[in-house]
Amino acid sequence: MATITIVGGGVAGLALAATLSPEAHTVTLVERNPGYSRVPTAFGIWPFALDALDRIGLADELRADGLMLTNGVITADAAGHPVTMTRREADTWLITRPALLELLDHAVPDSVARENRQVDDPAELRADLVIAADGARSVVRSRVWGDAPRDTGVVAIRGILTTAPAMPPDQMREFWGGGKLFGVGPNRLPDGVGTNWYASTRRGEESPTDALRWARAAYADFPDLVSTTLDAADPDTTVVNAILESRRPRSVVRGRYVLIGDAAHAMSPNLGRGACEALVDAIVLGEALNEHGMAGVREYEQKRRRAGQRTRAAASMARRVALSRRASRVLVRLGPN
Ligand SMILES: Cc1cc2nc3c(=O)[nH]c(=O)nc-3n(C[C@H](O)[C@H](O)[C@H](O)COP(=O)(O)OP(=O)(O)OC[C@H]3O[C@@H](n4cnc5c(N)ncnc54)[C@H](O)[C@@H]3O)c2cc1C
Repeated sequence: MATITIVGGGVAGLALAATLSPEAHTVTLVERNPGYSRVPTAFGIWPFALDALDRIGLADELRADGLMLTNGVITADAAGHPVTMTRREADTWLITRPALLELLDHAVPDSVARENRQVDDPAELRADLVIAADGARSVVRSRVWGDAPRDTGVVAIRGILTTAPAMPPDQMREFWGGGKLFGVGPNRLPDGVGTNWYASTRRGEESPTDALRWARAAYADFPDLVSTTLDAADPDTTVVNAILESRRPRSVVRGRYVLIGDAAHAMSPNLGRGACEALVDAIVLGEALNEHGMAGVREYEQKRRRAGQRTRAAASMARRVALSRRASRVLVRLGPN
């Protein structure tokens, strides 16, 4: 049987391990930091990712653990004249990162060998196929492809509150203005509905305490919903990440190595699609390997390389628009209501 080692047990690695047939492959999953992350911030899961999850029998479980969104409202302010655009969402779900990881983890067959360690040199891994599911700072990509992601100079500060936001329970809101963005919406937490929030601007990474102190002052002139959310936020449930973007690889397959998820296309979070693309990569690759054996990597490359890179480029554009001074003019062109 062909041997496959998956480096990284995040969204992409777990979804691949859950898709690969135990009858066809001997699979090892290496994760340096098992567990389901500290702060339960929410992921938006779009219909195309839900369709892929449906093929491995997990879409209904995701719906059971998530919250449905029916609309997203973006408001951009130009010199005191707010412009609002409403986007209708169809079958788009919010689920916390820990809940998604747990759901995928439970779907991984017992036949998958788990190793709890950090991979420093992928050349040492004994396997016919090595799948890089090790995220934006992928060691496999850095060692085998010889490149590193680009720091956009933008930070995402995000967190949760245990109380629900003062807004409709099926809505997300974003406010853009003055080179800053703030998003807020519901979040399905184990004890009920809470709040998911995020702030983004051109700024470096810093501690949650410093980032919150800065954000409370910087967003003081945003609508009340923003200041009440930031006032209630706690550094213990706040995370701060520099936003990284991958470069476009010529191929996502090199010899026995294959890139999936953020290792292939780390992207700005402005479209809320990174985890969705990671899920689809993993499920398409797993299905192709189940059907065609090792030759399946070519089918994966054909189906997924361009799709992932297109989303990465579109997300980069969305970030630049949201943080630009032209944001409200772009919303007008898109058709405000
Ligand atoms: C602010 C923000 C908001 C976002 N919102 C959304 C959203 O709403 N919807 C959405 O679809 N996406 C969203 N994303 C994107 C999403 O978080 C990522 O695209 C997704 O987590 C990628 O999954 P992955 O499995 O490829 O990588 P990761 O989640 O980074 O997982 C990689 C795993 O590999 C492990 N690992 C790394 N290196 C090694 C090593 N050398 N040895 C062993 N293990 C290793 C890590 O511990 C980790 O568990 C958001 C991202 C950010 C920053």
